[in-house]
Amino acid sequence: MKVIGLTGGIGSGKSTFCALIRKHGIATIDSDQLARQVVAPKTPGLAAVIAEFGTSILQQDGSLNRAALRQQIFADPNDQAPRQKLEAILHPLIQAQTQQQIRGYQQDARYNAPYLLVAIPLLVEGILKTGCKPSYLDEIWVLDCSRETQVARASQRDGASVEQINNILANQASRQQRLTYADKVINNENGLAELEAEITRLLKENIDAQQARPNH
Ligand code: ATP
Repeated sequence: MKVIGLTGGIGSGKSTFCALIRKHGIATIDSDQLARQVVAPKTPGLAAVIAEFGTSILQQDGSLNRAALRQQIFADPNDQAPRQKLEAILHPLIQAQTQQQIRGYQQDARYNAPYLLVAIPLLVEGILKTGCKPSYLDEIWVLDCSRETQVARASQRDGASVEQINNILANQASRQQRLTYADKVINNENGLAELEAEITRLLKENIDAQQARPNH
């Protein structure tokens, strides 16, 4: 089983792709969801965030107030330290959770699909920062579409302005940077039927490659 890091910019179709490929029996791990789990109420992650940023980042029910935390982090655009501190708390926890879930599938004899997908929105940004690809990933697959399509889809989905989506895009890796790291590029410029056809092609490629191996 290959562990695939699936990435792509905002609105590139990661969630859509994961939902489609799950129908073919391929499991997916959502690192955004893990990021929320590690700061759920009563977790060591939330305790560490409170120790750093204070109890003003909590809602009355004890859960994380994301807007308040964001405000603290972006209070001074010239001061990167709060964001770096938050990342230093969250990243090791998310990585540990990701690796634990991967091990779960690797040790599960009932899971015999050729791939396990880990959707990591900021995978390339992380590689650019640290200089290395996470050791638990065998390959990187990049969902790719034009910037115009990304902006149109993301703004429609989020009810956000084109300017808001452009601001987010400006803080993400460029299309070209992402493609540099791609072992496979999945074209998502067209409709859902075309994306489904891309998946069928990908899975068939894998079967063909297996059959071409000697001693198969
Ligand atoms: P983000 O990183 O912002 O969470 P994402 O990469 O997970 O985004 P999706 O949420 O899957 O992207 O897709 C963005 C929007 O575009 C969604 O509303 C989705 O339904 C739509 N979409 C994705 N792929 C296609 C497609 N091939 N045809 C039409 N709509 C699409």
